[in-house]
Amino acid sequence: MEILENPWPSPALSRLESSAIPPLRVETSRGPVTFDHLQGSALRMYVCGITPYDATHLGHAATYLTFDLINRYQRLRNTSVHFVENITDVDEPLLERADRDHVDWQSLAQRETDLFASDMVALRVFAPEFFVPVTQVMELVDQAISQMKSNGFVYELDGDLYFRTSSFLSDLPISEEQALAIFAERGGDPDRAGKEHPLDAVLWIANKNNEPGWHSSHGFGRPGWHIECAVISLRYLIGENFLAGDSSREYLIDIQGGGNDLIFPHHFMSGAQVKALLGENFARAFIHTGMIGLDGEKMSKSKGNLVFVSKLLAQGVDPTVIRYALLQDHYSLARNWSDAVLQQAQTEVERVRSALGRNQVAPTSSAVAEMVQAIADNLDTPRAFAALNSWIADTESGVEGGSPGEMARALDSLLGLAF
Ligand code: ZN
Repeated sequence: MEILENPWPSPALSRLESSAIPPLRVETSRGPVTFDHLQGSALRMYVCGITPYDATHLGHAATYLTFDLINRYQRLRNTSVHFVENITDVDEPLLERADRDHVDWQSLAQRETDLFASDMVALRVFAPEFFVPVTQVMELVDQAISQMKSNGFVYELDGDLYFRTSSFLSDLPISEEQALAIFAERGGDPDRAGKEHPLDAVLWIANKNNEPGWHSSHGFGRPGWHIECAVISLRYLIGENFLAGDSSREYLIDIQGGGNDLIFPHHFMSGAQVKALLGENFARAFIHTGMIGLDGEKMSKSKGNLVFVSKLLAQGVDPTVIRYALLQDHYSLARNWSDAVLQQAQTEVERVRSALGRNQVAPTSSAVAEMVQAIADNLDTPRAFAALNSWIADTESGVEGGSPGEMARALDSLLGLAF
């Protein structure tokens, strides 16, 4: 797979005519952050991408929609956004699936990545500036591990290289006990004999079982998960000379984002490894989205109850309805999906369309201003939809004085809902 710039066409963004657009405030795993430092500089946002062994499910979609709201909001504030996303195109789940289905792992990765891109187009998600497959950054990973090694944070165990996590435990976003309890189920190996600390994470995996591998100064093998995102984010958000560091900044990048199953270990490890590499703070804000459940149960690969965006689209579901449904509840919460949720969204989308189709509508400037305030306040989409619904109710009861075009443009620009 290749490194792609602007891998799919991004939607157009029309300006909001009358509203003041305050700085965005978000809740992060380390407390609130307001992006009021960006005057004249760009927002640097990295969102952890897919492992392309399967199609985009609604949990993925909800995560990318959340960061799309941030992307849109900053653009509406006239802040340029540097947005980078990776593709984990070599990893255990991908190799296992390719093996199970007797397909080539690279073709599987390419096929699912193409499907992901078409889902993102349908859902009107802005494309990243760089969409970077892990297999394209092996040399950089090699160099980064060497630099971390000379900084004293790497040791070898039977050919594999491990990251010394112990120096960074004070940065853990959860307690050490909690970290130990969930490390194994999220790709860690706390019980491996010979490790210096159970929370040490693998940086380079020596080749075994004829798995795909790359030659490096650390032997033939492939990288661990966390170092890939650390390297890709720095290379494509800071630049080619990222290994020299950038001590002019309080933080190297503004946002590392993903689902809340990435709080630990993935985002903690990415941040710790960047600190070990450059001695600097990685992300100003680690932002996490809640999981999407199906009919009250956790949606997961092991339960086999994943709902795929492409399947819904193939069934004829309007992508605007999917986007509308996924933005109804707050991004940070665990949310539920069901046929009833989809039906409800369908009904509401029709109601919005019908209100926007009237010649006379309720005043729009104040409703749009309230929607802007809601998004500025930690992407409070329920509050934005409450403002929309109250505007619809006023419109339906005959209140006049607004512009349907102004509301349609705001829904499109702010929430990505095109009517
Ligand atoms: Zn990542």
